[in-house]
Amino acid sequence: MTKSADLEISNLRIITPFEDREYESRLHHLEGCITIKNDKIISVGECQGAKLVINGNGMIAIPGFIDPHTHIPFVGERSKEFVLRAYGKSYVEILKNGGGIYSTVEKIRSSSRKELVEENYKYARWLLKSGVTSFECKSGYGLDLENELKQLRAIKELSKIVSQTLIPTFLGAHAVPKQGENKYLQELTTMLKEIKNESLSQFVDVFCDEGAFSVEFSTELFKRAKEMGFKLRAHAEELSSNGFAVKASELGAVSVDHIIKIKDEEIPILSKNKTTAVLMPATSFYLKTAYAPARKLIDGGVRVALGSDFNPGSNTFYSPFFTLHLAVNHLGMSPDEALIAHTLNAAHVLGISKSVGTIEAGKQADIVVLDAPSLEYLPYMPTNEHIRMVLKNGRKVFENKDNIPG
Ligand SMILES: [Zn+2]
Repeated sequence: MTKSADLEISNLRIITPFEDREYESRLHHLEGCITIKNDKIISVGECQGAKLVINGNGMIAIPGFIDPHTHIPFVGERSKEFVLRAYGKSYVEILKNGGGIYSTVEKIRSSSRKELVEENYKYARWLLKSGVTSFECKSGYGLDLENELKQLRAIKELSKIVSQTLIPTFLGAHAVPKQGENKYLQELTTMLKEIKNESLSQFVDVFCDEGAFSVEFSTELFKRAKEMGFKLRAHAEELSSNGFAVKASELGAVSVDHIIKIKDEEIPILSKNKTTAVLMPATSFYLKTAYAPARKLIDGGVRVALGSDFNPGSNTFYSPFFTLHLAVNHLGMSPDEALIAHTLNAAHVLGISKSVGTIEAGKQADIVVLDAPSLEYLPYMPTNEHIRMVLKNGRKVFENKDNIPG
């Protein structure tokens, strides 16, 4: 027995992904204790003793959820557009009418960095109360040097005041600005240099699709970004089959996101190149469109991660429990596959899998304790109210006692 540990949670049912081999994970089920010293897990299973012991009362412990795709930070809201779409206007139609994403761009341009940080603190808290302990943040609502940098600097500031780990992505190529994509390429190249100088992001993303950037432009941007040492991610084939998922994969992209319209024969290429598919079924649900071919991707050997795509225009759902529900009910994933996809596989996308994504000795103690009878119960009853406690780096950062009588 060692009393040198800081915290031990006893009497837990621990469910955690475990990587048997590179690219191959399954869930491990253990019973007993999680022992924590400083910010790290030092033991899982057998109880060790600690200065503070909390009885887990047979509850489930899973790794903190990781959201590998959000559009935080944004400002303002687009509820009018939501209602218009509900009555039949398509995303492309709304874009062509000057609505959609450009209205958020205007709001970002007229907001200060401080306002951005303040407004998005709220969303970080919402995610925390949903069990999300690390998440990706994207720029992409500035579309010029000043405002893209403002968004990325806001992410950096936000990361200092929220509990979670934030991973920034530069998405300057989110929507085509009025000067057209050809003139914009040079501006983006200037932005890349500035972002590199200030170490504001390791990742570069592009929205390559109908109504957004062309395959030729996106390929050229990726080549330039890769040469400068950025890691690549792509919004690909959400609205149309244009082959960019394969192009991005061949250029070494870490992930291709959405890929609802990917062709069957392209799937083996993602598998061969070890490109992760990030799927966001909440966006399909919100837009009432098709779901990604998750089953074909998984059966074809592609690593699948799940994310929210939380943003003000095309999806306002952010709870991982809802994503798990959609993954099981609409993507054909098993509860085990869905949990791995929203923890370890998401960590792989963000380049943080060495420190988070599983409950293992040596990893950061990012843990969610759930009052639920089984893993299957989470997608079946998709509410954040399962959460009893969220630990980030070994510290209790959220607790919910609302549902306990007395
Ligand atoms: Zn997105």
